[in-house]
Amino acid sequence: MSGENCFEILDKIFQAKKPQKIEEIKGYTIKYGHIIENNEIIDEVLVSYFKKPLSYTTENMCEINSHGGNVLVKKILELCLKNGAKLADPGEFTKRAFLNGRIDLLQAESVIDVIHAKSEREAKAGMKQLEGKLSKKIGEIKQQIMDVMVQLEVTIDYPEYDVEDVTNRQVQEMLNKVEKDLEILEKSFDNGKLLKEGIKTAIIGKPNAGKSSLLNALLKEDRAIVTEFEGTTRDTIEEFVTIQGIPLKLIDTAGIRNAKDEVEKIGIAKSKEIADSADLIIAIFDSSKELTAEDREILELIKNKKSIILLNKIDLQTTKIDENESSLKEVSDYIIKISALNQIGLEKLEQAILDMFQLNEINLDNEIVITNIRHKALIHQAIEDVKKAKDAIQKQIPLDMIAIFIKDILEDLGNITGDVVTEDIINEIFARFCLGK
Ligand code: GDP
Repeated sequence: MSGENCFEILDKIFQAKKPQKIEEIKGYTIKYGHIIENNEIIDEVLVSYFKKPLSYTTENMCEINSHGGNVLVKKILELCLKNGAKLADPGEFTKRAFLNGRIDLLQAESVIDVIHAKSEREAKAGMKQLEGKLSKKIGEIKQQIMDVMVQLEVTIDYPEYDVEDVTNRQVQEMLNKVEKDLEILEKSFDNGKLLKEGIKTAIIGKPNAGKSSLLNALLKEDRAIVTEFEGTTRDTIEEFVTIQGIPLKLIDTAGIRNAKDEVEKIGIAKSKEIADSADLIIAIFDSSKELTAEDREILELIKNKKSIILLNKIDLQTTKIDENESSLKEVSDYIIKISALNQIGLEKLEQAILDMFQLNEINLDNEIVITNIRHKALIHQAIEDVKKAKDAIQKQIPLDMIAIFIKDILEDLGNITGDVVTEDIINEIFARFCLGK
């Protein structure tokens, strides 16, 4: 519970083993006792006390730790409600933290990202935003703009000082720098998107090349963190494997698995469809046999796409496909010999994926990564507005007009951190939260 009266409500339902007046209880204290209704013990609990302003929401807060289970939790929740609490809306705790100024909008949104993270990397990127790294960066950019704005206003207000040329140059320099900074942020979204949504990966190959063996090998390596998300229809199960913290979203794994029962119904047409929608294609060939017409069709299909070629079944030692063959080399820079069955060469496959997407430690750990489409759209808008302002200077438009353009940039950035954001947008953002966050 959070809010001015939460301790009073708590008092009506909680009997501490060692009762104390609320004024005497310090923040960050845990007390042991019982939840009581009509003198009857409902549960044995621990209650944590947080006193304003040192809490998640900056309000008075208490957390009741009960024995788990639906019945007890529901009962205690009901008791809180009966005694004057109201059920929190989705994201309401975080929303209050934002409205009370403890975190900015960007940080609030990163709470959602951290909760929904599907991989360690993504959680890490979210955590960085929660720490305020992106907020700080945006703040720095805003400060640069504001510094020049002051100069601009002075020039506009006191034209007799005749510093217009100087001001023009300063504004120009500032805009160039801001543009560069914003562009770096915008670019980072591509990496951020991969972290967030996973690299959409298709495994293709003719029947018996080893697709499902590869799938199983990948899933086995990663068993602990494989997650299956049910799609709207039964055959759109999305499976994620995490490779060194980077999620691969495997597409059409259901197709690969079911193909056996349905007499290999994944034809070339279907493969093409899958390949077209993928960020990465892993094409797998049976190296114990010569390349067939069907194999060549697959190679044709993945030309000009990000692909990795796997020559499978090397354990059979009857290799009929030469890894230096030009028909392979012209399709992909990555030709890797593996045995899906014996799990040989998988680490080379992993390394190839990291290389291809330039996802190494240094990039991801030092870079501020944008993962949120709303932020990306606003940064893009800000870049557009910077361009407009630069253009206006080129055309020697009066400074007071330029000042208006520059205010637009500030507003775009203010929308990200939430200082000028509208009620509607705030509501929309927090509606994405789960209950109780
Ligand atoms: P899919 O039709 O492409 O999904 O192919 P499967 O993964 O079902 O594999 C077809 C057959 O090849 C199965 O009998 C596998 O056991 C076998 N196979 C797959 N990978 C290897 C491998 O690396 N070495 C050997 N010797 N056999 C393999």
